[in-house]
Formats: sequence, structure tokens, C-alpha cells
Amino acid sequence: MKILKLKIANGDTIEIKQLDEEHYACPVCRSFGYGQPWFEAEGDSFAGPSFDICPCCKVQYGLEDSVGDTSQTGALDKRWEELRIQWLNKMDWAAWALEQLKDNLGVETHEIERKEGRKPSA
Ligand SMILES: [Zn+2]
Repeated sequence: MKILKLKIANGDTIEIKQLDEEHYACPVCRSFGYGQPWFEAEGDSFAGPSFDICPCCKVQYGLEDSVGDTSQTGALDKRWEELRIQWLNKMDWAAWALEQLKDNLGVETHEIERKEGRKPSA
């Protein structure tokens, strides 16, 4: 798996995981969608969102995860985390959803559950 490190306008470097030629992990739900969520900068500009909609969590990159050019360090990662929690709530914290986060991202699901005050699963 390849990890793209992209620099965004507020100075942060974000990571987008690439599985193969055309599949990238959604930064929110970690499903391997068809398109690239965020793109490399061209020239001396910054990375930008694709405005694609994730087929799994339905987040539209650049809209729901828009944080603004002068946002604080870590703002986009934080926003993704908020959206991830919203999605997990919608999925009722289903086992497959937690697996998807763990397998495709290495997100510690127990960590998320603990933060949200949930009883850890198994
Ligand atoms: Zn998604």
C-alpha cells in the first residue's frame, strides 16, 4: 500500500492511502472507493479535494471535510475523525465497520470507542 502525503493550504500534511492504481482509502470510513479523495498539488499550489462522494460513508470531499485555508494544525484530521464517529453512529458501530477501519487504516477501534464513552467490543 502506498501512502500519499499531501500538503494542504493550512500547512498540514495529510495522508491518503492508495491500495492500487485506482483505489484509494476514504479518509473517513476507510472503504476503498473508486476515486482519489484528495489530490496532489500542482505547481506551487496546495493539495485539494476531488469533490467525489464516498460510496460507503457518503462524505463529499471538499464539502463536508472542508476546513479552510487558515484552520488550525490538525483541523482536517480532526474533522475526519468527527465524520468517522458520525458514520459509525449511523452504522450502529457494526462489527464490519470497525473491521474496515482497523484493516484499512490501523485505526484502533478500541481507542475510538473509549473516546466516545462506549463499551469496547469483544
Ligand atoms: Zn467513506
